[in-house]
Amino acid sequence: MSETIFSKIIRKEIPATIVFENDKVLAFNDINPKAPVHVLIIPKQEIARVTDLKPAEHAEMLSELFSAANKVAEELGIAKDGFRLVINCGKNAGQEVEHLHIHLLGGKPLGWSPG
Ligand code: AMP
Repeated sequence: MSETIFSKIIRKEIPATIVFENDKVLAFNDINPKAPVHVLIIPKQEIARVTDLKPAEHAEMLSELFSAANKVAEELGIAKDGFRLVINCGKNAGQEVEHLHIHLLGGKPLGWSPG
């Protein structure tokens, strides 16, 4: 895959408000938040989209991503009331950045009408 802006965020070449980091995962505030809490959780490994995932190869990384989502939700105080995780894949979902990412949204009751 070709490099995206998220690779530059991983390398700290452009600024982002980082809320969690370990050797496999980075989580930072979305620059255009759609909810009071809107964090993007990304693997440091460059994978463009969900359809590029291979269960055997990426199982540990996926587990790390979801663990990070839970940890950030807990630390930002939205775990108890609930939150939404969204992964856009491709054109019809409106995926803008071709680096796999989970949107973590919360901090208010969320509507549901993505279609
Ligand atoms: P998606 O449409 O699922 O590909 O989501 C991409 C997300 O990346 C959007 O919500 C953007 O607001 C967000 N985004 C793009 N550039 C940046 C950036 N430099 N820092 C933080 N979030 C960004």
